Amino acid sequence: MKLSRLLLALLALGATATASAQEKVLNLYSARHYQTDEALYANFTRQTGIKINRIEAKEDELLERIRNEGANSPADIFLTVDAARLAKADELGLFAPVKSKLLEKRISPNLRSPDWFAFSTRARVIVANKELVKAEDAQNYEDLASPKLRGKVCSRSGSHPYNISLMASLVAHLGEAKAEEWARGVVANFARSPKGGDTDQIKAVAAGECGVAVSNSYYLARLLRSDKAEDRRLMERVAIIWPNQKSFGAHINISGGGMLKTAPNKESAVKFLEYLASDDAQRYFADGNNEWPAVASVAVKNPALEAMGKFKADSLPVATLAKNSAAAQRIYDRAGWK
Ligand code: FE
Repeated sequence: MKLSRLLLALLALGATATASAQEKVLNLYSARHYQTDEALYANFTRQTGIKINRIEAKEDELLERIRNEGANSPADIFLTVDAARLAKADELGLFAPVKSKLLEKRISPNLRSPDWFAFSTRARVIVANKELVKAEDAQNYEDLASPKLRGKVCSRSGSHPYNISLMASLVAHLGEAKAEEWARGVVANFARSPKGGDTDQIKAVAAGECGVAVSNSYYLARLLRSDKAEDRRLMERVAIIWPNQKSFGAHINISGGGMLKTAPNKESAVKFLEYLASDDAQRYFADGNNEWPAVASVAVKNPALEAMGKFKADSLPVATLAKNSAAAQRIYDRAGWK
């Protein structure tokens, strides 16, 4: 009798141990999918013993999925790109605030909110066709609205998060009325109706279909580093201009993430966020997409980014972009920037 009770106790103990071993997982919903990410995640598992289950999909699909799963969502962490998207997730109340001394120390205050953290940064730069546009005519975002560039501007949709965030920064710097005036000026300068992604705008500029466009920095780096000669040749026709170097600096956006309110594995989730701010993880994270680490003390050796030169970055808190993103969308709608 005694022995069987002991056996039962041991069995129960075994069951508990198994359960806690099973708890050592992290469910990651990620909009990132780069080759270097394999090493990034494997290192985390090696260091912590926490296994990562990854669901990778497009940014907006993941957000929809988390919303649909609701309280039953297995997701612990949502990783995505652009402050406008993080703002959307935040507005929907999907994130849980994370208090971490380590994250607060590593990630500067302008690159985080109470609910999410940036892990890499990218800039939104001006690209100009060297033959069609004089560089001095396209030094600032404001110049894109100048009559000098009539019929020469190409753009992706005004509803895309990259452009929403750029507008959100202009709202912060210029005020809503001036920002709307700017949007109307740019629309008046369009060479064609907005279509395609950033790379399509770069290609249209190189081909001379338009004179000028804006693009995130990593698309330029990708073409500069491309193993296709045609991509590199294309970049020879394009001038890369760091915008607003004499005023507020180039618009900076981020890729980042946060812990979900419904996360079943909160402890693992915080550990993972802290891991992403470590030196090694920062290098992998940034290099996977030709971005800059969010942790300022971490250096990257990326020849394409180095070739693009040093620049003044906008120091506007990314949380401000998030806050202004709804106003930004309204401005694009009123200005007819579809
Ligand atoms: Fe992108």
